[in-house]
Amino acid sequence: MATLEVQNLCKRFGSNEVLKGISLTANKGDVISIIGSSGSGKSTFLRCINLLETPTSGDVYVHGELIRMKTDKSGERVPADPKQVARIRSRLAMVFQGFNLWSHMTVLQNIIEVPVHVLKVPRQEAIDKAEALLQRVGLYERRDYYPGHLSGGQQQRAAIARALAVDPEVMLFDEPTSALDPELVGEVLSVMRGLAEEGRTMLVVTHEMAFARDVSNKVLFLHQGRVEEEGDPKVLFANPKSDRFRQFISSTY
Ligand code: ADP
Ligand code: MG
Repeated sequence: MATLEVQNLCKRFGSNEVLKGISLTANKGDVISIIGSSGSGKSTFLRCINLLETPTSGDVYVHGELIRMKTDKSGERVPADPKQVARIRSRLAMVFQGFNLWSHMTVLQNIIEVPVHVLKVPRQEAIDKAEALLQRVGLYERRDYYPGHLSGGQQQRAAIARALAVDPEVMLFDEPTSALDPELVGEVLSVMRGLAEEGRTMLVVTHEMAFARDVSNKVLFLHQGRVEEEGDPKVLFANPKSDRFRQFISSTY
C-alpha cells in the first residue's frame, strides 16, 4: 500500500485555478522532489496534502486512509472530521522555508512540545528522544538555546529534529534552504540527504537541482498547476522531454 496517494487534486482560490489535477504516489522510502518556477503551485500542493488548505476536488490517502471531505452549509468543501485531520496531520511533518520555531521556547522545548502535549508521550521519554535527534542533526550542544541565538542553518536543523520527533509517515519540505545564506545551505541539505539514505519518505519542494537530481528517486516538474514532466531524475535531467522543463533546468544551473 502506498504511504501517500494523491488523486487528481485541484485547488481554486476564487477564480484562480492553482492546481489542475495533480496525482502522486509515494511509496515507503521515496524521496520525491517537486520543482517548478515561482507561482506554479508547489506550496499549495504541499499545503493541500497536510490540509492547511482544503483541496477543491481530488482525494488524498495516507496509508490507504482517505481524508474525508464534506460540503458545509455555505457550499464550501471542508474536511468531514476534524479529529481525522488532527490525526493525519500528526503523521505528516512539514518543514517550512522560514525557520518557524517557537521563539519563546528553547530548542529542546520546541522538539518535545508536540510529543508531550499532543501525543501524550511521557516527558522524560520525549526528552531522551529529542536529545538523540539533536545529536543526529548536530545540535546537542545547543539544546538550551533560544532560536534567536542560532544561525539560520541551525534553526532549520532544529526544525527538522522537531519534525522527526513525531515519527512522521511522510516529511514535507517546502523550500527548506531558500531563506538561508549560501554558506549554510550545505549543512541542511546534508541532514536531508541522511534522512533520505535511512529510508524516510519525503516530499521536497526545492530549487536545489543537485539535490533533486542526486538524492531523490522521483521528480515532479510543475508548470501552471499541472505536472508537466515527471519521472526518474537521472533520466529526466539527462533527457528533458518538454521545452519548458529544458528551459527551467538551464535557468537554474
Ligand atoms: P509556488 O509555491 O510554486 O511558488 P504557490 O503555491 O505559493 O506557488 O502559489 C500558486 C498560486 O496560488 C499563486 O498564483 C498564488 O498567488 C496563489 N495562492 C497561493 N495561496 C493562496 C491563498 N491563500 N489565497 C489566494 N491565492 C493563493
Ligand atoms: Mg512556494
